[in-house]
Amino acid sequence: MNHKKYTFLDLGTVNRPYADALKEAVCRVIDSGRFIGGPEVDAFEKSMTSLCDVAHAVGVSNGLDALRLIFRAYIEIGVMQPGDEVIVPGNTFIASVLAVSDCGLVPVFVEPDPLTMNLDTRLVEAAVTSRTRAVMPVHLYGRVCYDDTLRDTATRHGLKIIEDSAQAIGATASIPGRGGSRRAGGLGDAAAFSFYPTKNIGALGDAGAVTTDDTLLADTVRRLANYGSDRQYHNIYKGLNCRLDPMQAAILSAKLPFVDRENGTRRRIASVYETTITNNAVVKPLYTDDGSAVWHQYVVRVDNRDAFRRYLADNGVETGIHYPVAPFDQPCYKEYNALELPVSRRLAATVVSLPVSGCTSETDAAEISEIINTYKAK
Ligand SMILES: *Cc1c(COP(=O)(O)O)cnc(C)c1O
Repeated sequence: MNHKKYTFLDLGTVNRPYADALKEAVCRVIDSGRFIGGPEVDAFEKSMTSLCDVAHAVGVSNGLDALRLIFRAYIEIGVMQPGDEVIVPGNTFIASVLAVSDCGLVPVFVEPDPLTMNLDTRLVEAAVTSRTRAVMPVHLYGRVCYDDTLRDTATRHGLKIIEDSAQAIGATASIPGRGGSRRAGGLGDAAAFSFYPTKNIGALGDAGAVTTDDTLLADTVRRLANYGSDRQYHNIYKGLNCRLDPMQAAILSAKLPFVDRENGTRRRIASVYETTITNNAVVKPLYTDDGSAVWHQYVVRVDNRDAFRRYLADNGVETGIHYPVAPFDQPCYKEYNALELPVSRRLAATVVSLPVSGCTSETDAAEISEIINTYKAK
């Protein structure tokens, strides 16, 4: 029996290398006396525009609000109206879908490609109706979902491409004819980021951002997030309070410069799994070495998942499931529970996330692979 513990994720360990910088950031905000908006938020937004090579970044309260604000803004601008349809992948995290329905829009679920576990862009066209206004590629598990098929379909039908980049900060995609390589968040018309503590770059609490090249959209998002006001005590929209607070902005500014280092750690662990897991009962995720994946999760697929997870747990390996129930099968979406989406359901039943973060070493990953390789499927 192996007695070493392989922690899935420990946020204390992940943040330890930043401890001094984080304390300095928090003290700086306390000393500044500025606790809403201001230079810390401005500086963070500026860093996000350079990272994603976009014209605008708006710091907001969290990833779900980032998505909600994008849809609300498109509705205020007149690009969409309640009842319009938005195409979403059937295997995404629930927040992608909540943002759509919260704005009175209708989610239309499209199956993922089992190879990439991302929205199958070849199936988007067939799901387009006269009410479709947008498609939401979700860069699930940190793998970019964007290709010529998606862009051409969107162009042909006048759809906005709204990236759910919550899991993909720093990921890149090579776009022929668009200056080579672009980061997630700079591929579509608008993108939402989350800095939930477990994401590749995590705040010490909730935080998010919207990125876009569209000035009208950015201004509208900014106003909606601040009570719908364009200047103090003048409200042009029935807005919300979804601002990013300066404490989290300062914390994120301390961590954001290290996004490629953080993602590099995850890539090295993924490459160890890729080369050392050889058990035929375990389907490894598509492996690419081109920077297009930042391995927010390393997700394998196994039949009889409970037995596999129990075996790993007995050998000290903690695992996760992202996600055990597809959004359209949730009780809150009863109206979609009868949909036939076998690929999404099959993924929900078989996915297992292995440890991949700053608290897993390459040696740990090799040892976890060894444990996996001695697993006997029944
Ligand atoms: C985390 C996440 C969100 C939501 O972000 P929060 O900051 O937790 O609101 C949305 N979409 C995806 C794919 C996510 O992983």
